[in-house]
Amino acid sequence: MGLLHWLPGETLHSLVTRQHAFWGHRRAEQTARALFGHDRRGYQHDLPGNLDELVASTGGQLGDVLSVSLDRTLLRFYRPFLSESRERAYAGALGGGSEARVRRRLIAASAGPKVFHPLKACLPCIQEDRKLFGWTYWHMDHQYPGVWVCPRHAVPLQKSSSRANRYDRVQWHCPEARNLLPPAIASANAAELDSCTRFARLVGEIVDKRPIVRIESGALHASFLLALERGGLVANDGRVAIDLVASQFLCHVRSLRCLPELQVLLNKEERVSEQLSKMLAPTLGECHPILCFEIAP
Ligand SMILES: [Zn+2]
Repeated sequence: MGLLHWLPGETLHSLVTRQHAFWGHRRAEQTARALFGHDRRGYQHDLPGNLDELVASTGGQLGDVLSVSLDRTLLRFYRPFLSESRERAYAGALGGGSEARVRRRLIAASAGPKVFHPLKACLPCIQEDRKLFGWTYWHMDHQYPGVWVCPRHAVPLQKSSSRANRYDRVQWHCPEARNLLPPAIASANAAELDSCTRFARLVGEIVDKRPIVRIESGALHASFLLALERGGLVANDGRVAIDLVASQFLCHVRSLRCLPELQVLLNKEERVSEQLSKMLAPTLGECHPILCFEIAP
């Protein structure tokens, strides 16, 4: 069948893209049918479905459904926020082609800013990968939400200019300068770029750490409250001065305001108060992952 091997830190979408080019298929449907068993499956670059078919069609050479979904799709990013049973359930749903359900659940869990996963790449990585591997490819750690700077080169990432058509069929393409939009945070000053770089590295460190770090809601809630108490932001009756917390938080993340995910959230102070209230609720379950990454350390 002439299957390619994974490149370091490569996403499933990227490998399928290279496989499509390697086979020289003219139409996307040919590759979708060969790998995902259906003309219209497997196109989502973030959370592709029909992984059961993929594993069967490749004879397990790329891994099993669990390893492919947890390591090679954006489910990887959400793992620290999921219990082991929940992540297995989501992996199973991707295997069976219920990716829309996984996406809905992740959106519900991120209540507030919309979950969006643009396809991103770094120009220096593209140049290096071409020299080193003979391919350019999409890196997993560039795709994490909140990551808009390459953690290796400290340069802003650029979004793919390709748009999905009405069947969510993106044109499978390897990253090239000509198919990337200008950097989304091009206007960031040096200090902001530095903050965004440190944030990108922090996200990567937490998501990629093994054994995996589970950001357990009860412990996170307790550490939030402890930090607020130390900062004098909890009254004697236990009530949190949420507006004060929100204004201090806004100062704290000022240098990250250029991140698209935070721009949506930080436009209004009320929205920040609302999100922080959710994070401080006894049953933490609806906090936005980006905020957790920002506060958890
Ligand atoms: Zn790079």
